[in-house]
Amino acid sequence: MTGHAEPSHERLRQHFAQRVIHQARQMLETWQRLQRGEWSSAGLGELSDANLRLQRYAERFEQAEHIGLAQAIGQTLEAIEANSARLNSQLIGELNRLMQRLSRTGLRQGDQLDSVHLPAVRKPVHILLQDAERAERLAQQLAFFGLSAQALDSGEALRAALSEHLPAAIVMDVDFAGPGAGLRLAADAQHGLQTPIPLLFFSLHEADTPTRLAAVRAGGQEFLTGTLEASSLLEKVELLTSTTQYEPFRVLVIDDSRAQALNTERLLNGAGIITRTLTEPMRAMAELADFQPDLIILDMYMPDCTGVELAKVIRHNDRYVSVPIIYLSAEDDLDKQLDAMSEGGDDFLTKPIRARHLITTVRNRAARARHLKARMVRDSLTGLYNHTHILQLLEDCSFRARREQRPLSFAMLDIDHFKKINDRHGHPMGDRVIKSLALFLKQRLRKTDFIGRYGGEEFAIVMPDTGLDAAHKVLDQIRQRFAEIHYPAQPQDLQCTFSAGVVQLDEALDALSMASAADEALYRAKHAGRNCVMRVEP
Ligand code: GH3
Ligand code: MG
Ligand code: MG
Repeated sequence: MTGHAEPSHERLRQHFAQRVIHQARQMLETWQRLQRGEWSSAGLGELSDANLRLQRYAERFEQAEHIGLAQAIGQTLEAIEANSARLNSQLIGELNRLMQRLSRTGLRQGDQLDSVHLPAVRKPVHILLQDAERAERLAQQLAFFGLSAQALDSGEALRAALSEHLPAAIVMDVDFAGPGAGLRLAADAQHGLQTPIPLLFFSLHEADTPTRLAAVRAGGQEFLTGTLEASSLLEKVELLTSTTQYEPFRVLVIDDSRAQALNTERLLNGAGIITRTLTEPMRAMAELADFQPDLIILDMYMPDCTGVELAKVIRHNDRYVSVPIIYLSAEDDLDKQLDAMSEGGDDFLTKPIRARHLITTVRNRAARARHLKARMVRDSLTGLYNHTHILQLLEDCSFRARREQRPLSFAMLDIDHFKKINDRHGHPMGDRVIKSLALFLKQRLRKTDFIGRYGGEEFAIVMPDTGLDAAHKVLDQIRQRFAEIHYPAQPQDLQCTFSAGVVQLDEALDALSMASAADEALYRAKHAGRNCVMRVEP
């Protein structure tokens, strides 16, 4: 940091803001733990204590946004307690929304606290590679994207750094300081810690099973090989350290008996799982589209149609081929159970069921499904959503925006004269630019925005809760900043720009026409000389 040059009150402010953010992080960690385990009253008590501390700090240091959040969280926790009646989906959802908001404070540039330099506040990532130069370069690249990273060159340096404060994550070469020595070093670093530090192992060469096994035993959560790209590393670190992966699971219960369904809902809600019940199977498709469950619990026998028939109907839709379907029924004829499973069901649970059995099954199935889905809907070069999925998201979001009467914007971006970059500097350089823009968008946009790779060098962005002016403004800022990046190249550094078109949802537009309107505005931007953002006036 620049030290003397800054006025001291500004330094103090930053210092205080750091304390508040630190406490917010503690709280998010407690929240994560709760999501992984059972929701005991002890866990909720812990959360409530942490929240009181957050509120106290925030008040003392006059951090208005955090004061507001802590108050709202406190009220929700009180409601849960008073209602010891039990948790319900609404309260879990509310608590989750507040936690997600809390997780965004201090993470993104431009999201509140704008006078605080966030990268300095954020915990660093420690990088230890055999190739010290590479580690340094990687740290610089990560820093460029707002993540503070530090290359360390010895075990002693790591120990010294750890004794000061804990990093957000450690990236460790398995062969750092000698063959296999990195594994031991990382294991030692974790020793005695209450909450393990997210640990990512790296191996320059493809690793064999014993090495990978040793990495798992040393506490490694990821194993990366080959070229260590800043973008993929960033994504992994974000995933390991963010709270969004602990978004509560959503379960749709389809049962013609409301009493039965309520009982299932209560068991699941008690474990922090969000539920919705549908008693008329004929409305299943609309409900699926609206609620977007991670998993479906289906009754076998209903008046209008059987569970097996409904499972088939659901499976006919491409979107829902991978949503797990679990039958929950009193049917104890094993043959019938097996028949049901061969028709699109994934599991069969018999009533009465123990809470623990139901919850574990739901959590495991839902977690696996989320994981698979994340792979299916993403583009492999950039990790962004693929073409099909981003359009689906646009449709879902426009549906929701209309119902809740909130604004929604959609943008299309296209890199200018990209062909020339490929022609002059080669295809791999072109790929790097694409990845870099993807990373840039991820870093600069809100966590609630959805970013997709629409095609080659085209991107699409869905921005919920964002009106045309705000969307245009943020895109234009990103455009300016992106144009400032220099990519090292011969004979001279390379710079490039993009053009964009942006549109806001209104009565006259549906998802498809929104996409084509944004595309037309993009076309206008190209004709106006590129490197600009055009809007579709309502
Ligand atoms: P404009 O400013 O009008 O957008 O010009 P442009 O050259 O960017 O547009 P055009 O659509 O004519 O060319 C896009 C080029 O992008 C053509 C294609 O070879 C290249 N491209 C598409 N996908 C990829 C990719 O994944 N990697 C690389 N390196 N190039 C790609
Ligand atoms: Mg282009
Ligand atoms: Mg193009």
